[in-house]
Amino acid sequence: MISVADYHMHTPLCHHATGEPTEYAAHALSIGLEEIGMSEHSPMPSPGIGNWHMLIEDLDLYVSKVEKARRDHPDLTIRLALEVDFLPGHESWIRGLAEKHPWDYFIGSVHYISDTWDVDNPEKMSEWAKHDPYDVWTMYFERLAQAASSGLFEIIGHADLPKKFAIYPEKDCFPTIIKFLDAVSEQGIAIELNTAGLRKNCKEIYPSERLLHAAFERDIPITFASDAHAPEEVGMDFMKAIELARKTGYTKTCRFKDRKRTIVAI
Ligand code: ZN
Ligand code: FE
Ligand code: FE
Ligand code: ZN
Repeated sequence: MISVADYHMHTPLCHHATGEPTEYAAHALSIGLEEIGMSEHSPMPSPGIGNWHMLIEDLDLYVSKVEKARRDHPDLTIRLALEVDFLPGHESWIRGLAEKHPWDYFIGSVHYISDTWDVDNPEKMSEWAKHDPYDVWTMYFERLAQAASSGLFEIIGHADLPKKFAIYPEKDCFPTIIKFLDAVSEQGIAIELNTAGLRKNCKEIYPSERLLHAAFERDIPITFASDAHAPEEVGMDFMKAIELARKTGYTKTCRFKDRKRTIVAI
């Protein structure tokens, strides 16, 4: 049995993942998980922002797919969630999404540091060449702090995402990261340990050990995330994530139901 829940996974409705929720659930059971949460990329308010988000007209279909997974696998707890893109100005749209279904949690993620540049998008590497990594990292964490302070989310996703392509700033931007963590702590929300980073150029869990340590010092709760885009990625590298959490000092993780948190031992 794996004591932690995998709270971050996708479906084909975002057009870049494979496998139905019921298949993610079957894999979760096969590796000994007792709880997962589906967190598809949320729909965007205006079409034309990215091509990797679920469409608003598919939202009910998404929920019905998660409900089917629950019916097919009554022994597994399956939470209903979204990975919501935070862009300043989208707050009322996000509140609208929150009212549409009985969500268990929202992961707030920043991918966009402007209306057109999603920093983790491999098709936009040319943008990195045009910018100082320090400015990119700083803009990203300033926006992530805004996401944390918005009150719209229970969990902040893959906190140091700009490291995906292993492009690091020369000058230390940790003071900006600390401002983000202070916002998380003030809002009383969680961050996730996301193992997808191990499968990217950075070859490291999101967030770094240094960031996680600063989070632990602030009593910030954690969740665990594979960010699976295929059923076989569910729970991937969780032993490494648990090891990192324990090494940092964490003995507890959290779970969500109806957007309320409970704390459980790791
Ligand atoms: Zn994705
Ligand atoms: Fe993401
Ligand atoms: Fe994701
Ligand atoms: Zn993600």
